[in-house]
Amino acid sequence: MNRRRACLALLAAACSFGQQIQDSSPAPKDWVCPMDPDYRSEKPGVCPRCGMKLVARVPDRLEYPLEVSYRPECLHPGDPVTLRFRVLNPLTGQAVKNFETVHEKLMHLFVVSENLAFFEHMHPQPQTDGSFTLVLKLPYGGMYRMLADYYPAGSVPQLAVNTLIVTGTAPQSKLAASLAPCPARNLTASLRLDPSEPVAGLQTKLFYDLTPADGLQPYLGAWAHMLAVSSDLIDLLHLHPFLANGGPTVQFNIVFPRPGLYRIWTQFQRESVVNTVTFTVPVKSL
Ligand SMILES: [Zn+2]
Ligand SMILES: [Zn+2]
Repeated sequence: MNRRRACLALLAAACSFGQQIQDSSPAPKDWVCPMDPDYRSEKPGVCPRCGMKLVARVPDRLEYPLEVSYRPECLHPGDPVTLRFRVLNPLTGQAVKNFETVHEKLMHLFVVSENLAFFEHMHPQPQTDGSFTLVLKLPYGGMYRMLADYYPAGSVPQLAVNTLIVTGTAPQSKLAASLAPCPARNLTASLRLDPSEPVAGLQTKLFYDLTPADGLQPYLGAWAHMLAVSSDLIDLLHLHPFLANGGPTVQFNIVFPRPGLYRIWTQFQRESVVNTVTFTVPVKSL
């Protein structure tokens, strides 16, 4: 297991380095979204895709690592565990105390289980020393992967992937492609893919058609939030719609990094109820 963990850590580091973008100095009055740096505007405002406030210059894309600790030290299925998160400034090694709000929260956390049956989207509570804490129950043994989003003040939005191991094993369930309409609490989502057979490394458009067509509301500052996870738990992608306006069709654009199955959770709010729909998308190689 240690070797597997080390391997995952290396791959996660490689993925995040791959996401780094060369800093280029924009022209005066060139306003940029710190989360979607390809969105630029002549004037200040907010990004129409993710709602983030535009900045005049995107700071250097330094990586601010996330330190995760937990109590008790040995994790057992079904027991409450207290997670503590500290974000470290890479230049000073000190814990960051000031964060920007992203989608109404200072930190977002996604947790998925090894068999991709368990999914949670939560918001750790900020503490006075700059750390964040969260209590959760992990239902069964095995590996869990966590993706945290946070935005240290003066830097750029960050993503960090971490692993938790719970004693025992997860119930084995064979993941299979699943593209059938998915009913949730008060809506049903149907998924159309373009191309219909997604290819690794190329853009795929995902169109969600929602029924009923009315009553959709922004959830945490966006029309939807999506988490896509590869079946080997190496890729964890958090996305927001490319196009959405409160109508019944919501479009995401995504590049699946590698071939294989991706489990996708997408959250929509309708009439004050949060709906989480799931699909499993097969991705082929080029
Ligand atoms: Zn969140
Ligand atoms: Zn989101």
